[in-house]
Amino acid sequence: MRCPFCGNVDTQVKDSRPAEDHAAIRRRRFCPACAGRFTTYERVQLRDLVVIKSNGRREEFGRDKLERSIRMALQKRPIDPERIDQMISGIVRRLESMGETDIKSQTIGEIVMESLARIDTVAYVRFASVYKNFQAADDFDKFVSELRPDDSPEE
Ligand SMILES: [Zn+2]
Repeated sequence: MRCPFCGNVDTQVKDSRPAEDHAAIRRRRFCPACAGRFTTYERVQLRDLVVIKSNGRREEFGRDKLERSIRMALQKRPIDPERIDQMISGIVRRLESMGETDIKSQTIGEIVMESLARIDTVAYVRFASVYKNFQAADDFDKFVSELRPDDSPEE
């Protein structure tokens, strides 16, 4: 790693430790040429994940899409937004740590349902009921539009 201060490419790693709940590795680096110190982070490259749909089509994995469907299922539910973020990050980490770049859309759906079940039953039921149709349709935009809760029920 090139030193950001003097450009020397021969820098040393002084310390490596997990960061962001093991989503990243933080490395403290030292440049022997100028005695500069800097820090780098190593993270999994999300773009490497590919979703295999039930019809066999491949699609680049996008956290945005995952997030959109989860937020839709949790709409108007009394869940702390930070908790939702943590849940989404947890799902993404689980997908990353499966060791495969190709992941079936079905596997993602199951992990999402499992995670939703743990934090909100209503959101879980919403997601699960739409998910059944989704497997047949395999059309994400349709999925999200069906997931959009009516304005009438509850509350
Ligand atoms: Zn340097």
